[in-house]
Amino acid sequence: MLRQDPPKITITCDCGEVHRLAYGDEVACRCGRRYDTSAIPAEDYAAIRATRRRFRLLQGAFAVALGGLMLATLLLRPRAAVILVPLVLMVWFVYLRPLLRRWYRRQVAELTLRWTLEAKA
Ligand SMILES: [Zn+2]
Repeated sequence: MLRQDPPKITITCDCGEVHRLAYGDEVACRCGRRYDTSAIPAEDYAAIRATRRRFRLLQGAFAVALGGLMLATLLLRPRAAVILVPLVLMVWFVYLRPLLRRWYRRQVAELTLRWTLEAKA
Protein backbone atom coordinates (compact mmCIF):
# COMPACT_ATOMS: atom_id res chain seq x y z
CA MET A 1 0.00 0.00 0.00
CA LEU A 2 2.71 2.48 0.97
CA ARG A 3 5.33 2.79 -1.71
CA GLN A 4 8.76 3.53 -0.35
CA ASP A 5 10.51 5.41 -3.12
CA PRO A 6 13.48 7.05 -1.46
CA PRO A 7 13.17 10.83 -1.21
CA LYS A 8 15.30 12.78 -3.68
CA ILE A 9 17.88 15.28 -2.52
CA THR A 10 17.79 18.74 -4.03
CA ILE A 11 21.16 20.36 -4.56
CA THR A 12 21.39 24.00 -5.52
CA CYS A 13 24.76 24.67 -7.05
CA ASP A 14 26.62 27.91 -6.30
CA CYS A 15 25.95 28.85 -9.93
CA GLY A 16 22.20 28.58 -9.29
CA GLU A 17 21.44 25.37 -11.15
CA VAL A 18 19.23 22.91 -9.26
CA HIS A 19 19.84 19.15 -9.31
CA ARG A 20 17.65 16.39 -7.85
CA LEU A 21 19.54 13.24 -6.92
CA ALA A 22 19.06 9.97 -5.12
CA TYR A 23 21.07 9.47 -1.95
CA GLY A 24 24.57 8.27 -2.81
CA ASP A 25 24.55 9.75 -6.32
CA GLU A 26 27.03 12.25 -7.69
CA VAL A 27 26.38 15.07 -10.11
CA ALA A 28 28.66 17.17 -12.26
CA CYS A 29 27.18 20.60 -12.81
CA ARG A 30 27.59 22.43 -16.12
CA CYS A 31 29.74 25.00 -14.32
CA GLY A 32 32.27 22.29 -13.47
CA ARG A 33 31.52 21.77 -9.77
CA ARG A 34 30.82 18.23 -8.57
CA TYR A 35 28.61 17.20 -5.66
CA ASP A 36 28.46 13.85 -3.89
CA THR A 37 25.33 13.16 -1.82
CA SER A 38 27.03 10.30 0.03
CA ALA A 39 28.73 13.05 2.08
CA ILE A 40 25.36 13.49 3.83
CA PRO A 41 25.25 11.54 7.10
CA ALA A 42 23.47 8.22 6.53
CA GLU A 43 21.64 8.48 9.87
CA ASP A 44 20.18 11.88 8.86
CA TYR A 45 18.92 10.46 5.60
CA ALA A 46 17.47 7.43 7.41
CA ALA A 47 15.73 9.81 9.85
CA ILE A 48 14.13 11.64 6.92
CA ARG A 49 12.88 8.40 5.45
CA ALA A 50 11.45 7.38 8.84
CA THR A 51 9.76 10.78 9.21
CA ARG A 52 8.25 10.46 5.76
CA ARG A 53 6.98 6.96 6.56
CA ARG A 54 5.35 8.27 9.77
CA PHE A 55 3.81 11.18 7.86
CA ARG A 56 2.26 8.91 5.25
CA LEU A 57 0.96 6.48 7.88
CA LEU A 58 -0.59 9.33 9.85
CA GLN A 59 -2.16 10.83 6.75
CA GLY A 60 -3.55 7.42 5.75
CA ALA A 61 -4.88 6.77 9.25
CA PHE A 62 -6.65 10.15 9.30
CA ALA A 63 -8.13 9.56 5.86
CA VAL A 64 -9.44 6.12 6.83
CA ALA A 65 -10.86 7.42 10.12
CA LEU A 66 -12.62 10.38 8.51
CA GLY A 67 -13.83 8.26 5.60
CA GLY A 68 -15.25 5.71 8.05
CA LEU A 69 -16.96 8.45 10.03
CA MET A 70 -18.55 9.89 6.90
CA LEU A 71 -19.65 6.47 5.63
CA ALA A 72 -21.17 5.55 8.99
CA THR A 73 -23.05 8.86 9.04
CA LEU A 74 -24.31 8.38 5.50
CA LEU A 75 -25.59 4.88 6.32
CA LEU A 76 -26.97 5.50 9.81
CA ARG A 77 -28.11 9.13 9.77
CA PRO A 78 -28.32 10.30 6.16
CA ARG A 79 -29.85 13.64 7.14
CA ALA A 80 -27.01 14.44 9.52
CA ALA A 81 -24.59 13.68 6.69
CA VAL A 82 -25.75 16.82 4.89
CA ILE A 83 -24.04 18.80 7.65
CA LEU A 84 -21.39 16.40 8.84
CA VAL A 85 -19.74 15.43 5.54
CA PRO A 86 -18.92 19.01 4.45
CA LEU A 87 -17.89 19.82 8.02
CA VAL A 88 -15.51 16.89 8.22
CA LEU A 89 -14.05 17.71 4.80
CA MET A 90 -13.57 21.35 5.78
CA VAL A 91 -11.87 20.41 9.08
CA TRP A 92 -9.59 18.01 7.22
CA PHE A 93 -8.58 20.33 4.40
CA VAL A 94 -8.47 23.59 6.36
CA TYR A 95 -6.99 22.45 9.68
CA LEU A 96 -5.74 18.88 9.97
CA ARG A 97 -3.96 18.42 6.66
CA PRO A 98 -2.03 21.73 6.73
CA LEU A 99 -1.10 21.01 10.36
CA LEU A 100 0.21 17.59 9.44
CA ARG A 101 2.12 18.97 6.45
CA ARG A 102 3.64 21.75 8.51
CA TRP A 103 4.82 19.22 11.09
CA TYR A 104 6.39 17.11 8.34
CA ARG A 105 8.15 20.07 6.68
CA ARG A 106 9.50 21.23 10.03
CA GLN A 107 10.85 17.76 10.78
CA VAL A 108 12.58 17.51 7.40
CA ALA A 109 13.90 21.08 7.58
CA GLU A 110 15.45 20.47 11.00
CA LEU A 111 17.52 17.69 9.48
CA THR A 112 18.33 19.15 6.08
CA LEU A 113 19.22 22.68 7.19
CA ARG A 114 22.34 21.29 8.83
CA TRP A 115 23.62 19.96 5.54
CA THR A 116 26.11 21.96 3.57
CA LEU A 117 27.45 19.96 0.70
CA GLU A 118 30.78 21.32 -0.50
CA ALA A 119 31.59 21.14 -4.19
CA LYS A 120 34.43 18.85 -5.12
CA ALA A 121 37.17 20.34 -7.25
ZN1 LIG B 1 26.92 24.82 -11.09
